[in-house]
Amino acid sequence: NKPLLASPTDNLKARRSVSVNQELPVLSHWIGGEEASSSGDRTAPVFDPARGIETKHVALANAGDIESAISSAQKAFPAWRDLSITKRQQIIFRFRELLNERKGELAQIITAEHGKVVSDALGEITRGQEVVELATGFPHLIKGEHSENVSSGVDVYSTKSPLGVVGIISPFNFPAMVPLWFLPIAIAAGNTVVLKPSEKDPTAANWLAALFSEAGLPDGVFNVLHGDKEAVDGLLGHPDVKAISFVGSTPIAQYIYETAARNGKRVQALGGAKNHMLVLPDADLELAADAAINAGFGSAGERCMAISVVVAVEPVADELIEKITSRMATLRIGDGRRNCDMGPLVTREHRDKVASYIDVAIADGANVVVDGRGIAVDGDDNGFWLGPTLIDDVPVASRAYKEEIFGPVLSVVRVRSYEEGLDLINSGAYGNGTAIFTNDGGAARRFQNEVEVGMVGINVPIPVPVAYYSFGGFKDSIFGSSKAYGLQGFQFFTREKAITSRWLDPSHGGINLGFPQN
Ligand code: NAD
Repeated sequence: NKPLLASPTDNLKARRSVSVNQELPVLSHWIGGEEASSSGDRTAPVFDPARGIETKHVALANAGDIESAISSAQKAFPAWRDLSITKRQQIIFRFRELLNERKGELAQIITAEHGKVVSDALGEITRGQEVVELATGFPHLIKGEHSENVSSGVDVYSTKSPLGVVGIISPFNFPAMVPLWFLPIAIAAGNTVVLKPSEKDPTAANWLAALFSEAGLPDGVFNVLHGDKEAVDGLLGHPDVKAISFVGSTPIAQYIYETAARNGKRVQALGGAKNHMLVLPDADLELAADAAINAGFGSAGERCMAISVVVAVEPVADELIEKITSRMATLRIGDGRRNCDMGPLVTREHRDKVASYIDVAIADGANVVVDGRGIAVDGDDNGFWLGPTLIDDVPVASRAYKEEIFGPVLSVVRVRSYEEGLDLINSGAYGNGTAIFTNDGGAARRFQNEVEVGMVGINVPIPVPVAYYSFGGFKDSIFGSSKAYGLQGFQFFTREKAITSRWLDPSHGGINLGFPQN
């Protein structure tokens, strides 16, 4: 068994960065079952967002590293594909047990690089673990079908085989959960994987790879390739990579989809979001206010299923805003390791970009009810802080309304009716998640039917489906026909072969040039 990374920095080969900072360790790729130094010297800084300092660098792959990761996965494929289902299943079970035992360690790694509070990091791991648990049942989910006697003495049956090497490209906001949406299913189904995690919080990926190794996964089945556009383009262009699963922002999702498809790969690419929560006049406003706070400011709004717009059907807006505002005053913002409610944003640049939308909204005539800039925090002054912000009467023509902000900025738009709210939601470019708050079952049922969004909550603000359903939105929130995990995940990572078989018996024979019919 290989040793597991004990902490964000322990056990990482502390090679010195030649390019940026002489003092910091460099996280390198994980190839063929071990950490593998990069053959180049490009690196990117990794920050502790709560302290505002660089804590390490991460290697950025060059052509040699890309080739090495893909060929490691390619080499491991035939033996992994042919390993018995029982043995593969035992490895997934062991991985699940190890993950469950040690998730506290992984949560600390996530908080140290992403900034989200530890309890929320544990939450993301738990949601990822659900997919591992689904994958333990994979033998049932990769079975084919069989029909006897489709013609006299002829049987047809199907098998579901793995694709080969698959690439997973993940975003910064869920450094464990998003890779776990794909990894367990791809691996269980017999594929080998190259994961390209976000360069902003890369350590969780190596930790997962080391844990899989400890669970008994053969070397080369799961590789981690760190990098930027060069690494991504390397995966998209390589003939040995058969499929790409991507999660990230919409412009990159579209680029990934188009490029991978042009190169003949199977591709699923999940993009950005702007999720609305419709509050009807009959809703329980205490519940709706709690939901707006949790879904608007959890993980500092850096969730693709965060609620970023509250659509208040009059006359509820004033009362709802008052309830949301009073709850906002109770939130503790600070270092995610100090039991706070909300941590910092991931980088200084991202914080500044998010904060700039407050000025955009003001310039466009919105009314800032709570301004999170300059908020007092329980953390280092240099952290990338921005407090929860609430903006009322955001004009729908404003960039602050239309664009994904991806931070703790919650907008309120007032409408006069259910229909006006529904039209607003349906006219948006994105269609990832949405929620309705009401006590009227008929209205909720109408909404679920009429809203053009892929994941719908009824009195549930963040309707992320459990592992045995599939995750994905509509419109600019997804490119490609397959959602993540659930049955669609198994379908994505396997290809079906249909076999028509006839065994001759003594009564059979004769020539017939017609198309076989019965
Ligand atoms: P991002 O698009 O900047 O990066 C995602 C991945 O693409 C990273 O691995 C990054 O290295 C790579 N990448 C970045 N620029 C690239 C380029 N020009 N060419 C090739 N590869 C490139 O996204 P992010 O900032 O890491 O994550 C936040 C975004 O992800 C938000 O838009 C959020 O809504 C979205 N997201 C969507 C979902 C979903 O399920 N729909 C889930 C999580 C996050």
